[in-house]
Amino acid sequence: MSQPRAALSVDFEFFTHLPAYRGARGVTDRPAVGLGGVTALLDAFADADASGTFFTVGEIADEHPAVVERVAAEGHEVASHTHTHRHLSELDGPERRDELVRSKERLSEVIGSPVTGFRAPSFDLGPGHFRTLADLGYEYDSSIVPCRSIPGWYGGEFDAERPTRANAVDPAAPADLAEVPVAVMPRLRLPLTGTWIRFFGVEYTILGMRLLARRGVPPVLYVHPWELVDLPAVEGVPKRVYVRTGAYMRRAVRRILDESFEFVTVRELADSVVSPGSAPSEGRE
Ligand SMILES: [Zn+2]
Repeated sequence: MSQPRAALSVDFEFFTHLPAYRGARGVTDRPAVGLGGVTALLDAFADADASGTFFTVGEIADEHPAVVERVAAEGHEVASHTHTHRHLSELDGPERRDELVRSKERLSEVIGSPVTGFRAPSFDLGPGHFRTLADLGYEYDSSIVPCRSIPGWYGGEFDAERPTRANAVDPAAPADLAEVPVAVMPRLRLPLTGTWIRFFGVEYTILGMRLLARRGVPPVLYVHPWELVDLPAVEGVPKRVYVRTGAYMRRAVRRILDESFEFVTVRELADSVVSPGSAPSEGRE
């Protein structure tokens, strides 16, 4: 009997890439906070015989190429999470393009194969997002969260909950770009991971995964390496960032990977919608 599929994706960034850190009064002199979390994640994936996708900040490939190479060498997908992890909607057109181009080039160079997937920092999209991605050679996006509107956060814009063609979420998007939305809890419509796994606990996440699987939706989860390590206290970083980081999240990741799912890359889920022979969505063609 085949298991339902799921994706545990990693937004590979450091604590110092967080908008909540960049906007804080204080600073840390600890370098690369979160790098140890990458090792913990790779070990957990290996123990579960699972693969995942690491949406990686391009400048990390400049500073720590060996780690990015290791991620790819262990059978995981390396995709782009921009070059410097700034919010796309706050950049002008050329800057936005540069974030997408540089990260793709640099990451591809380090791993020795093409990077085709993208996730936006904080799921924040710039104008013409999907068209720009396709023009620059990306093949799928995973920056949609079909959650309720959360004031001061995001949400309320999209309702697609399963992998689809991008033109099903935005009519202006090209038909050959795939969109792989991030998982939200049915009815409650809050994300299964991110801050919510740490607020509500890993049982909440696992319940959501099972409910989605019952509806035939592959759950797409995301975690950050910095969530798996003990964080430095920095003045002005909101308390929510610290909730249950470290040991709790290291255990939570292993609990998730113990569930009866086949953990695949986000690329594999994207391929199921735009591969040759797959049915076009919503009769747009
Ligand atoms: Zn991020």
